[in-house]
Amino acid sequence: NINLVTVDGPSGSGKGTVCHIIAARLKWNLLDSGALYRILAFAALQKKISLDDQKSLANLALNLNVSFQSNGVGVDTLLAGENVGDKLRTETVAQAASQVASLQLVRDALLTRQKAFYKEPGLIADGRDMGTVVFPDAPVKIFLDASAEQRALRRFNQLQSKGFNVSLAEILSEIKERDFRDRNRPVAPLKPAEDALVIDSTSLTVVQVVDQIFELMKL
Ligand code: C5P
Repeated sequence: NINLVTVDGPSGSGKGTVCHIIAARLKWNLLDSGALYRILAFAALQKKISLDDQKSLANLALNLNVSFQSNGVGVDTLLAGENVGDKLRTETVAQAASQVASLQLVRDALLTRQKAFYKEPGLIADGRDMGTVVFPDAPVKIFLDASAEQRALRRFNQLQSKGFNVSLAEILSEIKERDFRDRNRPVAPLKPAEDALVIDSTSLTVVQVVDQIFELMKL
């Protein structure tokens, strides 16, 4: 039964947008697993926990008081009741998230929490290891890729539209740095699952990607 779809890929590949659209259309649950790593990193920075203190970070991950609440337009991310959504989008938090995400104990600590998102009527799971580690039995797996330049440009436009003052060259180098770390870490490296369909979205619109995924779900 096709009520679980995983979408993995590097940052800026368009996963987030695509997953939001599909979840809204099907009225399915949405797991933004990157947000969990970002919240953990944010909480660690707040509590001044060192980003390589594996045990304390895993403990923090197990006890995070986090919830996601639909607000009609999108999803609010609540940490201990406070909406921290915007604070999670900064580059500092992104890099810190990628750092804590390379720790095995941290990933283990977040596993049960992530699996719990799979419930009726279905789930679309967005991340780096959704198809390889968290939901290896998912019937539909997508790996969404795009050139680093295109991904940087998308992130740039996204941040600018939210009023952030950012530089394209800086974003490109940060994207490359984070990708390198995500792809080359020994723990759950970013790579397509063997049974994933790889979609290169470099020259595709969001609508085209969404349509391709819906086509695949019909098979
Ligand atoms: O997708 P997003 O950019 O929000 O993810 C932030 C970081 O969290 C990524 O760079 C990656 O290192 C980590 N992550 C991960 N596994 C996931 C989702 C995110 O390692 N399933």
